[in-house]
Amino acid sequence: MASPNSPPVIVVGAGLAGLSAAYAALQAGAMSVYLLEQAAKPGGNSIKASSGINGAPTRFQNAAKYGVDQSFWDDTVRSAGSRLQASVAAPIKKHRQGLISTLTDGSAAAIDFLVDLGVDLSVVAQLGGHSKPRTHRGAGKTPPGASIVTTLLAKLKEQGGDRFNLVTEAEVTKLLVATTPNSNTNTNNHQQAVTGVEYRHPSHPLTLSGPVVFATGGFGGDTHGLLAQYRPDLDGLPSTNDPRPGAHGVLTAAGARLVDMVSVQIHPTGFVDPAGPGVALKFLAAEMLRGEGGILLHAGRRVVNELETREHTSGAIMALPPAEEVGGLRQWDVQLLLDPGATEAAAGHVGFYLWKGLLQKKKVRELDETTRQTLRDYAAVVRGEKKDDLGRVAFGHWRLGVEGGDLDEEAEVCIGRVTPIVHFTMGGVVFNEQAQVLSSELGEDEKPIPGLWAAGEITGGIHGDNRLGGSSLLECVVFGRIAGEQAARAALNTAG
Ligand SMILES: Cc1cc2nc3c(=O)[nH]c(=O)nc-3n(C[C@H](O)[C@H](O)[C@H](O)COP(=O)(O)OP(=O)(O)OC[C@H]3O[C@@H](n4cnc5c(N)ncnc54)[C@H](O)[C@@H]3O)c2cc1C
Repeated sequence: MASPNSPPVIVVGAGLAGLSAAYAALQAGAMSVYLLEQAAKPGGNSIKASSGINGAPTRFQNAAKYGVDQSFWDDTVRSAGSRLQASVAAPIKKHRQGLISTLTDGSAAAIDFLVDLGVDLSVVAQLGGHSKPRTHRGAGKTPPGASIVTTLLAKLKEQGGDRFNLVTEAEVTKLLVATTPNSNTNTNNHQQAVTGVEYRHPSHPLTLSGPVVFATGGFGGDTHGLLAQYRPDLDGLPSTNDPRPGAHGVLTAAGARLVDMVSVQIHPTGFVDPAGPGVALKFLAAEMLRGEGGILLHAGRRVVNELETREHTSGAIMALPPAEEVGGLRQWDVQLLLDPGATEAAAGHVGFYLWKGLLQKKKVRELDETTRQTLRDYAAVVRGEKKDDLGRVAFGHWRLGVEGGDLDEEAEVCIGRVTPIVHFTMGGVVFNEQAQVLSSELGEDEKPIPGLWAAGEITGGIHGDNRLGGSSLLECVVFGRIAGEQAARAALNTAG
């Protein structure tokens, strides 16, 4: 029986997972929701997402051309790689597969949910690792992360009214725990239950009681902290993520377990801004720049087949001697060069990068002789006169030196410095298909921590070795909604 004095649902972190949880909690009838966010503004890394969100099968996919999409689960399992396939213990495999099923089975409903709120997701693209186009974004100029986050936030404010309380600059530092009888056994066993949070905020009380959904994101931006602890080889790498400490320790202090913490996704090309080379937060130099014809140079020479996998390309760059350390960061001095053909083909992106000062225009005659010789050799490869030593066989829209034989000295190329960056962390707290945080290891008999749920990049076990592009926004919506609804039910069953 629901109590009118039931406690609020407390959601920690106002990225997409937290916003989805807050919305679901209100929909499920929670008396109130407190969304605690350490930053001055909501949105987290979610607001920066640029490619889109996965869903299958959806009405936006072209079933007539590609057939009905039944392969999302298989693609996700394949991408999870050895962490799933090599799970010798059947229960571990089952646990991972169950999380993937919840993700992929819930994907079409997640798209419908967002579209019904008013988000445009009508354009569908195929990203690397997917066997069909299934990554949804809008037709307009607003990137998908920004349009999803702003729409959801507006709906929360509009529909939640007084029941919705967003508290910014509120950093949760501790989970409050109490000892309760273990409801899973008939014995006198006792267990720790989460009863609320402790948080730092200048003008608000420091504790709040109620069921908690933790949605504080990953640790890609925790450069010298969790990243250095779990991947010392990546210590000092810049990131696309906001620089902030991972909040994982808050959960483990309450009994949560961590999994796959060494699985970190690296992107080979983040722009080093000449105006601030020591800034840890970097813009991605989108993969399509290389796809459309861009090449990578170190000291004027190519270093890798630019169309190799992210892992291979990053590895080839990181095998080179790093450039000088700037601001405690480890960076490489690699140039991304686009000829006029690649520049034209990627015009939308290039315009933005030129405006940000991340790419510069140069005439061919202004380049050093080593670079010019590399361009001559490369043009001969594109003309089909010789094989590429590095194995590149597709050249996008490259045309410099291809027609007429020699380089056009007056042609304009675009050049910018790039370096490998940390992009996504696959690992996180062990949780289950109901988004309950567990005090048991993956695959053991599940021991949910009462009063505690989690969603988004803070969780682990879904993506294994490698997250498919578009699946992290999806996990935020799918598991965020489950977590919010479960926490609301728990709150309504608690007398205030
Ligand atoms: C540049 C970029 C592009 C991307 N593009 C895509 C894409 O196209 N598709 C896709 O699926 N994924 C993409 N991703 C990944 C995806 O955006 C993230 O994995 C996902 O948004 C994480 O959402 P989240 O809600 O878990 O965390 P976040 O969005 O990072 O939100 C976590 C929030 O918690 C707050 N917080 C942290 N600790 C505390 C604390 N102790 N107390 C209170 N608040 C706290 C943070 O300030 C933050 O606001 C991209 C990521 C980046 C960086």
